[in-house]
This record gives sequence, C-alpha cells and structure tokens, in this order.
Amino acid sequence: MKATRDGRGIVYLVGAGPGDPGLITVRGVECLRQADVVIYDRLANAALLAYASNAELIDVGKEAERHTIPQACINAMLLEHALAGKVVVRLKGGDPFVFGRGGEEAEVLAEAGIPFVIVPGISSAVAGPAYAGIPVTHRDLACSFTVITGHRAGHVKDPACDWRRQARTADTLVFLMGVHSLPAIVESLLEAGRPPSTPVAVVQEATCAGQRTVTGTLADIVEIAGGVRSPAVIVVGEVVRLREKLRWCEEDPLPQGIGRPAPALA
Ligand code: SAH
Repeated sequence: MKATRDGRGIVYLVGAGPGDPGLITVRGVECLRQADVVIYDRLANAALLAYASNAELIDVGKEAERHTIPQACINAMLLEHALAGKVVVRLKGGDPFVFGRGGEEAEVLAEAGIPFVIVPGISSAVAGPAYAGIPVTHRDLACSFTVITGHRAGHVKDPACDWRRQARTADTLVFLMGVHSLPAIVESLLEAGRPPSTPVAVVQEATCAGQRTVTGTLADIVEIAGGVRSPAVIVVGEVVRLREKLRWCEEDPLPQGIGRPAPALA
C-alpha cells in the first residue's frame, strides 16, 4: 500500500495505551489496520498487533534482550520504511509524547520532511492511578498534578531536577520510571518539605492482569514497596487516601469485558 499520492510514506506515532488492549483509541486501531510496518515497544500490549494482520512487525522492545536498541537505530528504521513509501505505525506505550521519546522521533521525521500524524494515547500517568482507585485531582484534596520522570532522581544535585520546586508546584505528584530510584525520590521529597505522613501508592503493571498496588507514606513506602517491579507508577499526595473508598478492580469480581484488567504485558 502506498501511503501518499507522490509515493512518499507516512508515519503514525500511535499511543497504545497503558497495557489493557481495550484502552487504545479507535484512531489507533484504524492506523494499525492500514499499516505496512509496525515498530513497537515492550510497553505496547502485543495483543494489539492482531489488528495489523498484513504488516511487517518489528520489535524494538527496550528490554527484550537486556540491552537497549539505540534510539538512533529506531529513528533510522522509521526513515528507511517511510522513504520506501510504506505506511509505518510507531506503536508506543501510553501516550507517545509522555516520555518514551516520541518527541525526538517526531523531530527526526519533521527534519527529513516525512509526513507524520500523532495519535495520542491514554498515559499510564493517569490510567495507573485510575485503575488503583486514585483520582489525580479532587475538588477537596488536589487542584493540580504533575508528571515527573524518576529516571534522574538519583541525581539530587542535578539542576534539571529541582526537587524543591517539584514538591511544591503540584498537589499530586506522579512519577514514571521511578521504581529503582524510589528511595532517592522519597529522600528528596522529604528534604524538600513534604511531611513524612504524605500518602504514597505504587501501582505495578497497571490495567493488566498482574496489576498490584501497595500503599504507605513517605515514611515507610520504601520498605513496603520493596518487591515492586517495573513498570510501575508512583503516586504521592492526599488523593491516595481515596483508594480506600474507590478501589474497584483488583480483587472484586467484575462483569466480563469492560474494565477487566487485561492479560499481562508480553
Ligand atoms: N509513554 C508512556 C510512558 C513511557 S515511560 C505513557 O504515557 O504511559 C515508561 C514508564 O511508564 C514506566 O517506567 C512506568 O513508570 C510507566 N508505565 C507504563 N506502562 C505502565 C503500566 N502498565 N503500569 C505501570 N506503569 C507503567
């Protein structure tokens, strides 16, 4: 299938949603159905690939073989297939522009003059808390939330990570890529003045069958979340208390279909 009238390809940067294959958008599914090539990540649920029955499937899963496929190779792959006139879907976990380097990939396409379309997705930054029964905002408890990478949390002196500001600017803090640096995150938030009694939740494999949530406070979450593995979302703030009332999907029997956590990430 030729993508455009002049024979140039096109790249769709598609958000796959947080894991449950029911949480991709209708537009995202349309893109997969039309694709000649799908380049996908570990965090995009492999069940979605069934929509792309005619496409060449390329796995660039970051931890597939315990080594990272350099971003430059992924960029080169996007260019190569688009220049060959293909309809390329770059399927990324969650939303393509919430971490995960979607912005860098779009820049490469823009610089090469290749047409591209962004199809937003449901980010784990909101779906993770939602599936744990935690609204990131609430009229009485939180009028703002911020999404922060935990990746650089070990670098407390890193000027790019102004912890004092991070801790003060929003009521609810959501950390992605933070499992390994949870101790450093907690230490920095305490240093920045958040009280030790601040509630914290860690949601592992959100929206998937393996979803597990642990809760505690800044004082004890490091110990409580000791066994949690990536991928996980960390939520800090008073809204975490609402989980007691609003938890809805982890142990209660749900009607078949809608809202059931999906099979584990492949
Ligand atoms: N673009 C993605 C985020 C990519 S960064 C999005 O919008 O969701 C990768 C991080 O996202 C992981 O380290 C983890 O913190 C989070 N994440 C992605 N999928 C997740 C899931 N199913 N459960 C919990 N956290 C998830």
